[in-house]
Order: sequence, then C-alpha cells, then structure tokens
Amino acid sequence: MQPSSRPFPKRFLWGAATSAHQVEGGTHNQWTVWELDHANAQAAQAEYHLDDLERWPDIKRAAKRPHTYVSGHATGHYRHYEADFDLLRQLNLNAYRFSVEWSRVEPTEGAWNVEAVEHYKAYLAALKARGIEPMLTLLHFTLPVWFAEKGGFEKRRNVKYFLRFVEKILGEIGKDIRYVITINEPEIYAAESYLHGNWPPQKTSKWLFYRVLNNQLYAHRKAAKLIHGLNRRYRVAIAKNSAYTYPGDDAWLTRLSAATMQFFHDDYVLRQVRRHSDFIGVNYYFSNRIYGYRVHNPHEHTSDVGWDMQPEYLEHALLRLHDTYGLPLIVTENGLADMHDSHRKWWLGKTMVALKNALEAGADVKGYFHWSLLDNFEWAYGTWPRFGLSEVDYKTGKRTLRPSAVWWARLLATIQKEKRR
Ligand code: BGC
Repeated sequence: MQPSSRPFPKRFLWGAATSAHQVEGGTHNQWTVWELDHANAQAAQAEYHLDDLERWPDIKRAAKRPHTYVSGHATGHYRHYEADFDLLRQLNLNAYRFSVEWSRVEPTEGAWNVEAVEHYKAYLAALKARGIEPMLTLLHFTLPVWFAEKGGFEKRRNVKYFLRFVEKILGEIGKDIRYVITINEPEIYAAESYLHGNWPPQKTSKWLFYRVLNNQLYAHRKAAKLIHGLNRRYRVAIAKNSAYTYPGDDAWLTRLSAATMQFFHDDYVLRQVRRHSDFIGVNYYFSNRIYGYRVHNPHEHTSDVGWDMQPEYLEHALLRLHDTYGLPLIVTENGLADMHDSHRKWWLGKTMVALKNALEAGADVKGYFHWSLLDNFEWAYGTWPRFGLSEVDYKTGKRTLRPSAVWWARLLATIQKEKRR
C-alpha cells in the first residue's frame, strides 16, 4: 500500500540519524579505550554469543575478527561529512540528527579544543547550506576519558561537568540549532554499562544502574533549564528507547506484567523528564508481546541482530505516548540491521503507514529520523550489523545507497511534491 501524504504536515522533519563515535572515526573516549582492551575477547567469544543468529553463516568471518570490535577510522565521516550530507539531499531528507563528541571538544578537563569546535561550526554550516534542519545530540553513550575516570554519572557531583560542556558547545555552535537531545537513551546506557555489564565500565550492580539512570535524568532536567535559559527557541528532549509492550492474551498475570514492564521501560523515565521536555524523542526498534510474565515475540521476521521486527507497532507506541504525556513526538531513531537489504523496504513501508495512522488518530508527530544514514560501529557488536540507508565499504570508505533507500527517497519526493501543490 502506498501511504498517502495527506496527514504529513508541511514542515514534517524527514531525517536520518547518526552518532559521533559510531561514524566519525578517530575518537578517543571511554569506549575506544575499552574496545582496544576487549576486541580479542569479543572476537573469541563471538561464536558462543552469536551462532544462533540466522545470519551467522554470513557474519561469522567478520564476527571472529578482533578488528570488527574497534571503531578505528569508522566510516571516516569526520572528514567526509560534506559528501554524507549530499546523501541526505539525494534521499530527499530535510533533517539530520547527529551528536557532538564531548571528548573531542574537551579532551582534558576544562581545556577546550578550538579545532574541534571549529569543525562542528563548519559541520553545521554545511548542513545549513543544504537546507537541512539539524538535531543536535549532546551525549550519545560516549564520555571523555577524564570524566569516566572521575566516575562519570555514578556521581551526582559530576553532572556539573556535563552542564559546563552543554553551555560551552551551545554558546559556540547553537545559533542555527533548534532541536536538542540532551541524552540519548539514558536507561539503555545505564542498563548495558551498569546492570548487564556489556558495555564499559562493565559493572553489574542494581544500585549503580539506578544511580546512573537517575543522575542522567537529573542532568537532563538541569541541562534543559540551562538551554532554555540560553534561548527559548530551543526545543529540548531526551531520546527515549521505547518498546511497545502488550499482552498476548487476557490472563490477569499477562496484563499485569505487560503494564508493569511498560511502566518500568518507559514511564519511570518519562515521568521524571516530562516537565523539562518540549517533545519526546522516540527511538523505536521493537515491541514486546507478553505471555504470563515473559516476553514471547512472534519471531515472524527477525533482523540480522536477532531483534523481532514489528514496524507497524510504532503506531501504538506513538499513540500510547501521546495519550499519556500529551507532548509533541519526534521519532528520533527507527531502523533495522539488514545486510542484504531484504527487509528494509518492507520496514520503511510499514513505518510510513504507522506514522500516517498515528497522525490521523491525533498524535502530534513532528518528524521521523531513520537509523541510520550510514552503516556504522554498532557498539559491542562492532561493524558487522548494517543499519545504513547507505552501505559503507569499510576498506575504501565508498558509500552506496541501498535500493530500499532509493525507493524511500522516491516516496518522500512524491509526498513533498503533493505538499507544494
Ligand atoms: C542507539 C544507537 C544504536 C541503535 C541500534 C539505539 O539504541 O541509540 O546508537 O546504533 O540503537 O542498535
């Protein structure tokens, strides 16, 4: 089905997203330090962790190579950003979400790197020259080494360092920015780094998880106040990883578990930031179907990383957030790992319908950013998962738009043309 353009507002943000560490190359932060220390172990354990994935035969060579787990030059986006922004134009996108790498701007405590600041100024100018609306993320999982060594967000007193960076960077590059994400997925960062022990600093403590999460939410509230104080034009939010959690039957245990999981997954966080947010940034990748007290997803389609794919439930996720919080919504991430590009067109089509339905049902959705513009460094998985609208050849740096992306660009052109009539 071809979604009609009718419900999409004229100024709807159609975009793609990236984060600095995942694409820039040449970063030095707590992740790069950890990658170098752990790459051999990750490669050695790859078969044990990943061989039940359907894609295992296709990924096994890459997954068993230590090099895969080191971000290194990544996609080289730090140097080639102009060409990457041309891709945004080719895709008929009018918006771009990216993060500034704090560790570049403040590599040692209190010392600002003028070159890095100038780089991001030029970066924004290049977006402006192409008529692309920027959405700035201030923190996307990576920390300067000195900040991590002080305990990072384990300590509330460290929040002041983050706020100093926020004030500095917005003072320098904020003039053409309107949309600001303070912190990307604070709960995912806290869980992966402090509860499950998958990401640096690989701690497994419920107490630290709780503290790191709450300190980030406190940091958001403080940062939002600060940013609004700089200029009321700014629209500030967190990007919340939001899975739609629903009961698979109507047994009381199932319904209670689904409601409880949804609360802890989303509402615990959003309740603490709603009054300090101009919109909710929604990162939607999957839904959870509950039976009893467990997740039992249908597994009709799974992505290369084994995630159950239910793109159509984005509609329910958006409507639930709209009904509960009444704030404008922007889908700040949405996408799939699909190395053969065999599901992406299907995913994008379903997603367009979900957006249209949510808008028609009254949700105030202001934009959609696909994750990701480029294949990128997928954290503990390394470089083998392919999330890009554009494929990246990591040897040559060559970018090639995937057929699904070309299809989507044509659809967006039709929608935008109809709007101009
Ligand atoms: C993160 C991205 C990541 C994506 C796919 C999101 O949770 O913000 O950095 O690449 O998921 O795993």
